[in-house]
Amino acid sequence: MNYHVMTLFPEMIESAVNCSILGKAIEKHLISVDAVNIRDYTLDKHKKVDDYTYGGGAGMLMAPQPVYDCHKALIDKISSDKKIRTIYVTPQGKVFDQALAQELSNEEDIIFLCGHYEGIDERVLEEVVTDHISIGDYVLTGGELPALVMMDCISRLVPGVLSNEESAQTESFDEGLLEYPQYTRPEVWMDKQVPQVLLSGHHANIDKWRRERSLERTKKRRPDLYEKYVMNNKKE
Ligand code: SAM
Repeated sequence: MNYHVMTLFPEMIESAVNCSILGKAIEKHLISVDAVNIRDYTLDKHKKVDDYTYGGGAGMLMAPQPVYDCHKALIDKISSDKKIRTIYVTPQGKVFDQALAQELSNEEDIIFLCGHYEGIDERVLEEVVTDHISIGDYVLTGGELPALVMMDCISRLVPGVLSNEESAQTESFDEGLLEYPQYTRPEVWMDKQVPQVLLSGHHANIDKWRRERSLERTKKRRPDLYEKYVMNNKKE
């Protein structure tokens, strides 16, 4: 999986991806992250990349020319026969979820376009963007954190990125449910005992207990997911 991030702050991306599991995945050549500075492509003699918005209003907007030229240079560099998905990370997009991460993990290359200020001139978005994706219904100052969130989530699904110990067989959102509660040593901590069934070694009982807790937790914390799960699993 090769990620290409179009940004005004490449150092934000670089400092985050070289740590922990993503850092190891880069070392093992399972993923690559190329952060490209949009400012390097501006034709403005003062290196400006933003301008006032037509029609008035507070704030600046990223101009189309540097974004377009940066994208074109990337597409030329990737040189693929396939249409490369270019994701504009924006609060106005489809909300990112595990199913979308799964779908994107099948791509070979993904371009993320990170906005700043008030966003990006609409005309260049129409030219280069294939997907508009949001990480939630709130507004951040820039697209770098959303791009990092998505890269982190997608990379976990790339074969080999998680070791066996890290890769849980069941995780939240598998089957549309939240994961059950989990415990490690010690058996008793602050007078709280690990549920006996988990110490029993009886796998069928453990599975049953986990399933029940998973349903219970989803119903309580995410009634929207629970309702969907019940609807999808209704007997015909
Ligand atoms: N004026 C824009 C609007 O109302 O939709 C918001 C611009 S925001 C201050 C600047 C940039 O941050 C956006 O262009 C986008 O790239 C990124 N951004 C902010 N919130 C986001 C979110 N929830 N999901 C994805 N990207 C986000």
